[in-house]
Amino acid sequence: MNQTILIIGAGLAGLSAALTAAEKQYQVLLVSSMPSERAQSVMAEGGINAALDTKGEDDSVEEHFKDTMAAGVYLADPNAVSALTNAAPGIVRHLAALGVVFNRDEHGSIDLRNFGGQKKKRTAFAMSSTGKQIMTALIQEVRKKEAEGNIIRYSDHSFVSLILDEQKRCLGCVALDNRTQELLSLQGDAIIVASGGINGLFGRTTGSQQNTGVAAAELFRLGVPIANGEFIQYHPTTAACFGKRLLISEAARGEGGRLFTVRNGKPWYFMEEKYPEMGNLMPRDVISREIWRIMSASGGPTSVFLDMTHLPPEVMEKRLGDLVEDCITYLHVDPRKEPVPVSPGIHYFMGGLQVDEQHRTTFPRLYAAGECCYQYHGANRLGGNSTLGALYGGGVAARSATQDAAGCTNDFKKYGAQAVEEIRQKVASLQAGNRHFPLPGIRAELSRILLNSLGIVRNGPQMEAGITALDRLLAEKVVRNYDPTSGPYENLNLESLCLLGKALLLSACNRRESRGAHTRGDYPDRNDAEYLKYSVARYDGKKVVVRLEDIPEER
Ligand SMILES: Cc1cc2nc3c(=O)[nH]c(=O)nc-3n(C[C@H](O)[C@H](O)[C@H](O)COP(=O)(O)OP(=O)(O)OC[C@H]3O[C@@H](n4cnc5c(N)ncnc54)[C@H](O)[C@@H]3O)c2cc1C
Repeated sequence: MNQTILIIGAGLAGLSAALTAAEKQYQVLLVSSMPSERAQSVMAEGGINAALDTKGEDDSVEEHFKDTMAAGVYLADPNAVSALTNAAPGIVRHLAALGVVFNRDEHGSIDLRNFGGQKKKRTAFAMSSTGKQIMTALIQEVRKKEAEGNIIRYSDHSFVSLILDEQKRCLGCVALDNRTQELLSLQGDAIIVASGGINGLFGRTTGSQQNTGVAAAELFRLGVPIANGEFIQYHPTTAACFGKRLLISEAARGEGGRLFTVRNGKPWYFMEEKYPEMGNLMPRDVISREIWRIMSASGGPTSVFLDMTHLPPEVMEKRLGDLVEDCITYLHVDPRKEPVPVSPGIHYFMGGLQVDEQHRTTFPRLYAAGECCYQYHGANRLGGNSTLGALYGGGVAARSATQDAAGCTNDFKKYGAQAVEEIRQKVASLQAGNRHFPLPGIRAELSRILLNSLGIVRNGPQMEAGITALDRLLAEKVVRNYDPTSGPYENLNLESLCLLGKALLLSACNRRESRGAHTRGDYPDRNDAEYLKYSVARYDGKKVVVRLEDIPEER
């Protein structure tokens, strides 16, 4: 057996990385705070993009590339996007060969649906539970590798911190066994972080709250840069549901669902009127802004509706079945009979850990893939490109990791024990502090600050007020605070989460223009001359600094 690849996260990106590394005969340790069956990837509904061209629309990988770059307002790495879109048809065919039950057309070809921001039908789907179907197939493959001894799963283990040597080379990680609350040090010749989006930082999102953001936040605190943190995707059609947001998938509009509001007593199909070509399938940032304007003018949160009542029963049953069920179960609205009230909600983080085209971070032997890293989506992500990016990115990260790990040595024993001891001491010093603010209250305050300052439309004074509030929260309630009613490591992580929040706020403040998901009331125009660049936030142990960096030239 070759060396060990340690993977944090077992959603689409983590599983794709694990399978790629295991196929190359590397030993894989797969660490995740919950089993794969409960990863957010299971929630993906609408589909996965690939220019399969089964609808006779003359689609191509070039068209997929162009749509992705345009939706991201030219802030994605063109070489990475080119590789992604080229690989997409092969990835979907491979998934079908693994047994993913994609919907098929009358000729037996993989069926494709419309998705926002794309001029061609390009989204392969399995009813409206595509993520669940893909994850099921991958979990089955992982189990085979597990039986062969190539993969060892550490489910119910949470990442706490990295184990680094003096050159900041990654030698492994410290993880917490969630059941016993014991810390353990895990060795890896290379480490791939695939910990998903940072939903926990904001609280009310469509994504999984088990994606606390702690892994990305801790890496940021240690010095790994965060790129494009200001680009947060508000999905236009979500609904409040038990303290989070329920997604009404873009598949609904892809199948013909129509957005309207009531004006002068009649339905006004505002998207169709303003954007006659793409209508309800304009990119998500555009629709969210339109809904935001209507809601701001009317002052009512339930003034916009998504109408599917005109869709044929077979579409509702065979292509949107799970969505219908979710609306009935969680919202008590039957979309076959009445329009669903919708409003925008946080859905996806385009920004994340900075990686190069091969998914290497700035730390040797550390890689990142999936929603936790920035890479393919620029200023705004196309629906259906994220599952694709996670699967493809996981594979690329694993190839880079195995290539770099080959032949490297690892002086793990010394550093592993040291890292665990340091964490224990930090917790002890927090425990010795005399402040006892309740942790859930501080977390709620952090989320409130971020939600208030990083809305669909932001402005300078609002964000500066957010930074001041966050600095005050850090100084007065976070540093040296210990809430004995919460877990010791939850107390420990709070500072990193606040620093990550500050990185997002400073990145947004620094970008004095409007582009994609970042809309500023005080700078409403796009400004390519100054801002056709990535934002990169770094923490040097004392302060967070944001710089703009050049986008690689297209090869
Ligand atoms: C409701 C919904 C519908 C969506 N529909 C679509 C769609 O139709 N098409 C599309 O392309 N995209 C869709 N997306 C987005 C897409 O599902 C995700 O971006 C993608 O699946 C992310 O995969 P991932 O592997 O990066 O992360 P995840 O699947 O989120 O996995 C993250 C993993 O990291 C683990 N983890 C997190 N923190 C820690 C920690 N501290 N320690 C240890 N482990 C940790 C988790 O347990 C999990 O195993 C949807 C998202 C949502 C919320």
